[in-house]
Amino acid sequence: MKAIRTTCAYCGVGCGITARVIGDRSVSITGDREHPANAGRLCSKGTHLGETVGLEGRLLHPRINGNRVSWEAALDSVAGRMAACMEQHGPDSVAFYVSGQLLTEDYYAANKLMKGFIGSGNIDTNSRLCMASAVAAQVRAFGEDVVPCSYEDLDAADLILLVGSNTAWCHPVVWQRIEKARERRGTKIVVIDPRRTETAEQADLHVAVPPDGDVALFNALLYQMRSRGLLDEAFLADRVEADADFWSSLSPGHGVDPGAFRKLCGLLAAHPRTVTLFSQGANQSICGTDKGNAIINLHLATGRINRIGAGPFSITGQPNAMGGREVGGLATMLACHLGFSADEREAVAGFWNAPTICSGPGLKAVDMFRAIHSGKIKFVWIMATNPAVSLPDSGFVREALARCPNVVVSEVISDTDTARFAHVLLPAHAWGEKDGTVTNSERRVSRQRAFLAPPGETRADWEIIAGVASRLGWGDAFSWQHPADVFREFAAMTGLAAERGKALDITGYAGLDRNGYEALAPFQWGGERPLASGFPTADGRARLVPVKPAGHATGKDFPLRLNTARYRDQWHTMTRTGLSPTLSQHRPEPILEICSADAVRAGLTDRGLVKVETMSGESVFRVGITDAQRAGEVSIPMHWSDAMAGEGRTNRLPCQDVDPVSGQPGFKNTAARVSPV
Ligand code: SF4
Repeated sequence: MKAIRTTCAYCGVGCGITARVIGDRSVSITGDREHPANAGRLCSKGTHLGETVGLEGRLLHPRINGNRVSWEAALDSVAGRMAACMEQHGPDSVAFYVSGQLLTEDYYAANKLMKGFIGSGNIDTNSRLCMASAVAAQVRAFGEDVVPCSYEDLDAADLILLVGSNTAWCHPVVWQRIEKARERRGTKIVVIDPRRTETAEQADLHVAVPPDGDVALFNALLYQMRSRGLLDEAFLADRVEADADFWSSLSPGHGVDPGAFRKLCGLLAAHPRTVTLFSQGANQSICGTDKGNAIINLHLATGRINRIGAGPFSITGQPNAMGGREVGGLATMLACHLGFSADEREAVAGFWNAPTICSGPGLKAVDMFRAIHSGKIKFVWIMATNPAVSLPDSGFVREALARCPNVVVSEVISDTDTARFAHVLLPAHAWGEKDGTVTNSERRVSRQRAFLAPPGETRADWEIIAGVASRLGWGDAFSWQHPADVFREFAAMTGLAAERGKALDITGYAGLDRNGYEALAPFQWGGERPLASGFPTADGRARLVPVKPAGHATGKDFPLRLNTARYRDQWHTMTRTGLSPTLSQHRPEPILEICSADAVRAGLTDRGLVKVETMSGESVFRVGITDAQRAGEVSIPMHWSDAMAGEGRTNRLPCQDVDPVSGQPGFKNTAARVSPV
């Protein structure tokens, strides 16, 4: 039985997997002991991937308006619709909404087509919902979207702060690594989270920060470190720039329990080897970028960065959010960590031999769907994602899709909430059939290899994109025959970034032949600490960014704060994990968690039904009364959709408010009210 080394389909930990095909669409899955991200460990989701590779529900043939058609007809239709929109309404009437589930090669092809050939910046990704605020914070502080840490820093840290991260459930293999560090060297673990999560239960200290209270807390921590004389003055003088008003912007007010704050200050003061791991709980906020900078400020000012066991570490949700960021899948970046200056646009246009390079950033995810709703965007191509469930105010998103005259969806599952709106439905390869690369949270590029024959008429996403580009007359620029050809082109293109002082540089792989690509071992761009030799700003110095706590309105109509969360054994909108009977046993339905005082006040009973209402919509859930939830706050998992759970659809509830810098929606703090059903 041949063993194929690949990577997990789910989270940004990026675990290596060994897959052995044992029968028709039947596969045994084990952790890859040689992969540096996981050394053989897997969590429940990765372990049960074999239960999700069957053909039940697969989209196997192209369809137009629900009818099976040939690939020729489907690609002609997509290209024709796109060309008509561009001709009649200009390039900005066209948009792509892509996904951290795409491989880097797919992402590269989509970005090139949109930004270099269609001539619009309107390509954004569901990674906007996941870590766009961390990206923006890193760009503001470091001059480039660079994660300055590696997993080995978790092994070497004396103190790990987990901010807005239920690591034990959402990044379980990283959690196992942290637990090991605790066993081996007594690493202290602090969880900073409004909820007492499963991770907080196991921490040395849980700091129950108010919703969106992280900026005040990290400003106060830095204020304390400065008062105690614990700044790294030499590092500040040598490597860091602060605005004139930075130090006066700090305040001692922290908003958390004074005893917990004292303990946290004591731990910080005693343990210079500190890693702060932050995730969606910090990012999914209308002040997420400021939270990221408040965290980075603390690390820069105390010199806890670019050293083993220290640094601010943003961990991504999806398997290839990082790869998408590298090639330029966010509307706010051109390509390969380059922006939209005249020099950068000229360089990219020259590299691609692009006829119409876009003039500036495109619309970010929430704005993109607003533009679809208003009719400004008349063509949207959605690839490998399910925005009808996953975007905030999903009722509005469904309205937008229903109004849009040209909806193209590339999918592996035939009947998702989003696929129901498609005029053209394109069958793509699924995990196990896909062949390409992904980048995990520590910038490690790994191969995702095919080990199953593609079923039906499914195709690789990059190939589908190239097919459309060719019909639009740009075949020469999209003439790749193999994913290795796309990867080589991307690797060569990072030379443009390197020439401009960026850390992203994988030009060493630009000459890889197909055998070399096939055998490619995991590698980390930038090495373990990519900013150690200098920050990629014009003067080589990082920036301390003054940030102020944001306020949120509460009112008697919506007195509660609604947080959206994730379950251990489900992934996003469950189109894959929902196929696994084993995973479905953990939490078979979505539960609204509420403390007993709020439940009594609202007339709710444990296991009864509750209607949750916000300014955006309403949904019904089962009630779970728990003291893990504080008074005034409730939480619900985000996974379930209409199709799967009747009325239990969570993302109908969060509103469209976004962080003003990153455009990331504030999923974690929505004004809500509850009543019995
Ligand atoms: Fe997959 Fe993430 Fe679990 Fe690793 S931790 S097995 S990458 S879901």
